[in-house]
Amino acid sequence: MTADRPADRDPGEMGRLPSTGRLLGRGLVAACPACGARRQFRYFVKMNERCHRCGLLFERIEGHWIGAIGLNTIVSFGVLVLSMSISFVVTFPDFPVVPLMIGHAALAVVVPVLFFPVSRTLWTAIDIAMRPLEPHEVDWSVVLR
Ligand SMILES: [Zn+2]
Repeated sequence: MTADRPADRDPGEMGRLPSTGRLLGRGLVAACPACGARRQFRYFVKMNERCHRCGLLFERIEGHWIGAIGLNTIVSFGVLVLSMSISFVVTFPDFPVVPLMIGHAALAVVVPVLFFPVSRTLWTAIDIAMRPLEPHEVDWSVVLR
């Protein structure tokens, strides 16, 4: 019997599955959450369909990327609110309205673009933490290294 499915493996081996912290850490550096392989993007915003090392199909279910969009929206608005709050406190009571508007408009464009790759890998990590990998999804010899 080959041990190609997690259920067929030794229980000690199953303990080597990536922990939630490791999944999220890999997602935060835009790496494959399952195996940690980097370079999952071409031209910064074009994500590989599958991980080149473990074969994980990143879009695990139809509509998978809605979570990444939501995550990117939350982070972008969070950065904006934080930046606006700090700006208003620091410049109180003479707000430089036009520079603040221009700066925050630029921030509202730049942050979602810069966070885009991380939003995708981080969302995939969160998804794997909530819905663990199925036996057919990855090359387990790579993931369980
Ligand atoms: Zn991988």
